[in-house]
Amino acid sequence: MTGRSINDRRVAHAGICRMQVIQHPVERLRAALVSNRQDLIDCYQKYSREERRLLEEGLHPDSPLFSPITLHSDSDWISSHPEAPQDFQSFYSNPYRSAPIKGRKTIYIQTIGSFGSAEALTEQYVSWLRDYCEAFYYGLVVKLLDPVTVSATGCAFRVNNSTHNLQIHAGDLLNFLKKRKPKDAFCIVGITMIDLYPKDSWNFVFGQASLTEGMGVFSFARYDDNFYSRCYKGRLQKGKSPKQGDYSVFTGYYTPPITSTLLLRSCKTLTHEIGHIFGIKHCQWLQCVMQGSNHLEESDRRPLDLCPICLRKLQSVLGFKMADRYKALLQWIEPGSLSKEQHTSTQTVANSAKPTQAFEDSRQWLQKCLCILEDEIF
Ligand SMILES: [Zn+2]
Ligand SMILES: [Zn+2]
Repeated sequence: MTGRSINDRRVAHAGICRMQVIQHPVERLRAALVSNRQDLIDCYQKYSREERRLLEEGLHPDSPLFSPITLHSDSDWISSHPEAPQDFQSFYSNPYRSAPIKGRKTIYIQTIGSFGSAEALTEQYVSWLRDYCEAFYYGLVVKLLDPVTVSATGCAFRVNNSTHNLQIHAGDLLNFLKKRKPKDAFCIVGITMIDLYPKDSWNFVFGQASLTEGMGVFSFARYDDNFYSRCYKGRLQKGKSPKQGDYSVFTGYYTPPITSTLLLRSCKTLTHEIGHIFGIKHCQWLQCVMQGSNHLEESDRRPLDLCPICLRKLQSVLGFKMADRYKALLQWIEPGSLSKEQHTSTQTVANSAKPTQAFEDSRQWLQKCLCILEDEIF
C-alpha cells in the first residue's frame, strides 16, 4: 500500500462565526474509551484504579481536565472534513496500522536546513524537540540524524507566487528521507523551517506523510507570527527568481526567531504528525492534540496533550505507566530541567534557557493529572 499519504492542509480563510460545542453523550464516550469487546474491556480493567480515574475524567461533562471540542467556524477541521470518528476499538483492530516492534523502536528526526541564525541554535532547538518527543512517546528512543542542508536533499524548490517566500517540494524530501531511514527506525520525520509545497498547483502544505512507509516531513515556517504579514522577512525581493538547482538562495535565508510560542507549536505539530504514523486518526471526541486543524488559530486552540481515548490508543502500543509519561513531560517543561545534550555538552550554547513560558497551562494541567494518578486531591 505504498503511496497512501496524508496532507495536513490548512486553509486560511475566515468562516462565518458559529460556535458549536460537540458534546458526546457519556455512554458514547465510555464505549469509545473502553470498547464493547470483552477482551478489550478486560484489558481496560488492568489499568490501576488511579489510571482509570484519570481516563474517566474525560466522561464528565464539566471535567476541569478534558473539555468538549468547540467549533468556532465553518472553516474548522471537523466542519470541513466529515469523517467517522475513530474509537479505541477501531484503532486497536486496524490491521494496517504500524506499531514499533522489536528492533524498530526508534523515532529519527532529520533536520533540513537551518533553524536559527546560528548553527548551534539549530542543534539546541532540535534537541528540545527530541527530548519532548521522547517524553511524549514514552518508552521509545528518539534520535537526531545529522542535520542536512537543503541542497543535500536535491529537492526541487520555488518561490510562492502570492507570499513570495521560498518553498521546497515535500515529495522530494520524502524520497530523500526514504533513503536515509535507518534499519532500526520505527519512523523518520523530517523537519524544516522552510515552507513546503506538494505539487505545482498547490499553494502550500504544512506537512506530508506516508503512513505505510513510516515517514513524514513537516514545516514550521508558517508558525512564525509574521508569516502572513507584509513585513515577513522570508519574502524574496520582487523579480528575484532563483534557478532550479542553484541552492545558494538558501544560504542565509530567513528563519523564524526561536520563541516559546514557536517551540510550543513545533512540539504540537511533531507529536500530532507522529501520532498519525502510529495510526491515530484525527480526534473528534474531546479537546486533544490529535484534533485536525485547518488553520493556525485552530491549531493554537488544541491542547498540547492527548484526550483519554487517544491516550489509551498510545498506551496500548507503548505500554507505559501513565504517571511516568506525565512526569517526563512535566520535567521537560519545568525550568531548570536539562536536555540530554545539555548534560553532556560543554558548548556555551547549552546555557541558553529553554523558552517554556507558553507551556504554563500545560504544566498546570500535567500537575493535576499527576495528582489524580498519585491519588491526591487537587
Ligand atoms: Zn493531522
Ligand atoms: Zn483524542
